[in-house]
Amino acid sequence: MRVRRRKGAQEHLENHPNYVVLKPEDSKGQWAKVFGNNNPIHVEVGSGKGRFITGMAEKNPNINYIGIDIQMSVLSYALDKVLASQLPNIKLLWVDGSELTNYFEKGEISLLYLNFSDPWPKTRHEKRRLTYKSFLKTYEMILPEHGEIHFKTDNRGLFEYSLASFSQYGMTLKQVWLDLHASDYEQNVMTEYEEKFSNKGQVIYRVEAQF
Ligand code: SAH
Repeated sequence: MRVRRRKGAQEHLENHPNYVVLKPEDSKGQWAKVFGNNNPIHVEVGSGKGRFITGMAEKNPNINYIGIDIQMSVLSYALDKVLASQLPNIKLLWVDGSELTNYFEKGEISLLYLNFSDPWPKTRHEKRRLTYKSFLKTYEMILPEHGEIHFKTDNRGLFEYSLASFSQYGMTLKQVWLDLHASDYEQNVMTEYEEKFSNKGQVIYRVEAQF
């Protein structure tokens, strides 16, 4: 997803330091202090306009959520949702998912979500996929031992690729859904993309993979 540059996006982010952590490297190893409690921290890499992260934070007040996006304008729209929610258990970071080890220590993150990640269908762009092995290595370095990645997408090619990538990395596929919305999985929180694509008739795939 590419969105048009939003005028004033950076100022918007800078004006809300209680929600947007602009120098997350300073918080490495200190996230419990940032949130003011020792609750588990769940991260969504590529959080887009923030519906999932705010929905999850609302449903699970005893979990802290961090939404990460590489696009400043997209993150600024997520900030609008977070501001409307006024929830205490969300932070947003404008960073690249490939650099998470600069911001989190081993085990500081309890669970990692990937939702509707960019598919990068061309083989020569494989390294950009958020489930490529170098990303898995990064996630492994901030999750606890046997940490988990929960991934959903409508993109069949990316899903097939990711199952193979998790497996080649030595991860366990704990559960796989080939049609999430037709399943009995009840705690689903929809993302913006999920609503858009399922309205178009696409099935939603989901996997819980464990290191
Ligand atoms: N999860 C949202 C958005 C999906 S679009 C939803 O389901 O609606 C994918 C998002 O991932 C985009 O906002 C894009 O900017 C972000 N993204 C892509 N590569 C990234 C990276 N390396 N690090 C962080 N975010 C990334």
